[in-house]
Amino acid sequence: MTSDEHTRARRAFLQAALVLGTLAVGRVLFPSGAAETGGSHRTRPSAPRTAGADPPAGAGRPATAGGPDGHRLRPMAGETSRSGPGASPPHPDVAFTLSTDRREIFLTFDDGPHPRHTPDILRILHRHDARATFFVIGENAVAFPDLLRDIADEGHAVANHTWTHPQLTTLPPGDVRSELGRTSSLLEEVLGSAPDLARAPYGAWDDPSLSICNDLGMSPVGWAVDSQDWTTPGADFIADTVLSEIGPGAIVLSHDGGGERTQTVQALEWYLPRLLDDGFRPIRIEP
Ligand SMILES: [Zn+2]
Repeated sequence: MTSDEHTRARRAFLQAALVLGTLAVGRVLFPSGAAETGGSHRTRPSAPRTAGADPPAGAGRPATAGGPDGHRLRPMAGETSRSGPGASPPHPDVAFTLSTDRREIFLTFDDGPHPRHTPDILRILHRHDARATFFVIGENAVAFPDLLRDIADEGHAVANHTWTHPQLTTLPPGDVRSELGRTSSLLEEVLGSAPDLARAPYGAWDDPSLSICNDLGMSPVGWAVDSQDWTTPGADFIADTVLSEIGPGAIVLSHDGGGERTQTVQALEWYLPRLLDDGFRPIRIEP
């Protein structure tokens, strides 16, 4: 990325704050028990913990084999990988869409990495020269560190989705800090740099968890388009949902882990080339 692009991306991220009010209103249109829907800290903290799409980490996953003990917590924002001349602190508000004057879109994949679905998704993205952002769970990341490297080597962003996928708004602050901090430390160990983006499980943030997220040098990310893949409604339905709801700057929620994701993969195969035909440009989220 050129420095101009960096500046532009950062500006775009900051500008997202300007549309938050509108989006917060807009999200009222989508009241639901969606696994990760209702993502603003303005929403009620009692977001339902729907099983299915986003089950608590651990279900059906390999047991965590010796995660890093005594993980380091990230330093304050000023000392993150984005420190230095021109660096801005992480954004305190959740972004649902990113301001863009082009047809850039932001595909995101949560709950991985997964040994089968993540490589499938990487192959499709590679074939179409598309970039995305992967919000990984620490428990999965420590089991499949090579997949983390594969994601990063393909030019995608690797971001923080907590260690065990709890609903952060139900946890005491120390546990929230541990869930996010432990995952950031692992990603830094494996990839050489700590993540600067985080997504709360179920999109459930509140003020304390947002504050901790920012303390750890990360900007919180929501979504504007829920692909509904977590409900396994069929690949056609997922693709139709994305194609009908997409717009410039939209962040799209999908899942590469946390369950059976064959439909997600099939849908991506269908809708990605159509998005490209429509002039959309899938890029990674840059804080
Ligand atoms: Zn999740």
